[in-house]
Amino acid sequence: MTVAVVLFTSDLRLHDHPPLRAALRAADEVVPLFVLDPAVHAAGFDAPNRLAFLADCLADLDGSLRRRGGRLVLRTGPAARELGVVVAQCGAHEVHMSAGVTRFAHRREEQLRTALDGTGARLVVHDAVVTAMAPGAVTPAGSDHFAVFTPYFRRWSEAPLRTPDAAPRQVPVPSGVHSDPLPGWDSGADVSRGVPAGGESEGRRRLAGWARGGLEAYEARHDDLAGDATSRLSPYLHFGALSPVDVVERARRRGGPGAEAFVRQLCWRDFHYQVMAARPESAACDYRTRQDDWRSEDEAAEEITAWQQGRTGYPVVDAAMRQLLHEGWMHNRARLLVASFLCKTLYVDWRIGARHFLDLLVDGDVVNNQLNWQWVAGTGTDTRPHRVLNPVVQGKRFDPQGAYVRRWVPELQDVAPTHIHEPWRLPERERAGLDYPEQLVGLADGLARFKHARGRD
Ligand code: FAD
Repeated sequence: MTVAVVLFTSDLRLHDHPPLRAALRAADEVVPLFVLDPAVHAAGFDAPNRLAFLADCLADLDGSLRRRGGRLVLRTGPAARELGVVVAQCGAHEVHMSAGVTRFAHRREEQLRTALDGTGARLVVHDAVVTAMAPGAVTPAGSDHFAVFTPYFRRWSEAPLRTPDAAPRQVPVPSGVHSDPLPGWDSGADVSRGVPAGGESEGRRRLAGWARGGLEAYEARHDDLAGDATSRLSPYLHFGALSPVDVVERARRRGGPGAEAFVRQLCWRDFHYQVMAARPESAACDYRTRQDDWRSEDEAAEEITAWQQGRTGYPVVDAAMRQLLHEGWMHNRARLLVASFLCKTLYVDWRIGARHFLDLLVDGDVVNNQLNWQWVAGTGTDTRPHRVLNPVVQGKRFDPQGAYVRRWVPELQDVAPTHIHEPWRLPERERAGLDYPEQLVGLADGLARFKHARGRD
């Protein structure tokens, strides 16, 4: 009997899984392995919201494997050590896994190769599993990556994607390979109440519902804050419970302006992955420095806390930050405007905001989070790095009736649409009756500070 190992990472699914398919082709039996690695904790990436979602993903993966005659093998410890033990136990000659782009992923891959040295097993790393297109599959002349989205999108749209695979019918797993118990739902952990159920089955159910329902209106409605008319598939994509190729193909089959706009957003994901693959240091450093002398945690402690708690006095900012606390998720338009508020109105370091997002987001993803933050801060790939989003203008435009604000900021429940985004303009008597904070900073003051800092005044 020949044996191969599939090391699952950010690809927690059975459908359209090239490493699993390759392992099943290469061997009679396969060990589907997931390692709970303390290095993830040490790096601060094991936020409770994501751990809860991960527990669902692993339980679902195990259930799906059991229906195919197999099971998930879970080990706890450093990934390289655990892989070495499993390979030795089952005599595997190949290990298959998906490629990652972060420094963490590169380091892990090196350690895995070292652990396999001398075991006779080889590591096979598969591209285009975590993304629809492999980073570097399309490049501009003279560079290793695209630094601007639109030309990337053009090339990405023209290039063919592989045809998504069905899930295997059988996954024979050798007996005698020890598995630790799967992590359960820790009811004591600080998990936001609105975190959705994780797992491939749930992801596929939601994808099917989205393709039938919301997709068609996506182009027209995706920026409507109160309408909540986006797919909410991001956590399933982050954990790989859905295949990005599958999602793109499904939307393309459906067709129409909604599908086109949706596929364009999915391309942003791949765009950021190819930037990070080429510049892994941009998880922590400016992709393009603007020589900012950001305000630090010490200099802006009160403002940062007010922003985190949703008490800035700007209703749409506060609504969004409270949605994040309650759901572990936030609408893209809201992410844009709260990030702009922190970096450009308060002039606080983008890394502080990015850290807070990573502590809470169930889709929190080093690649998309850091590079979106950099895009907003003007240190990333935005071609208009000095643009500032005005929260009042944004609120009036994307939440004209104030329904989003009222959903998350009950103190403003009774304020009419005319004043919901500017409660400070209410007549004094009405204003005094509201238990809602004053504006943390005047928008004009914030803008002046930012322009001065960027040398544009
Ligand atoms: P939809 O509008 O339905 O879009 C479909 C899919 O396209 C998303 O699920 C996502 O995978 C992808 N996508 C959409 N917009 C973007 C984008 N701007 N960049 C990359 N991919 C995109 N997304 C994450 O997945 N993880 C993060 O940690 C993350 N942090 C962000 C931080 C900031 C400051 C900003 C401005 C955006 C961030 N995004 C992040 C991107 C985006 O906001 C979310 O992907 C989106 O809101 C998820 O909701 P949805 O699934 O309903 O998206």
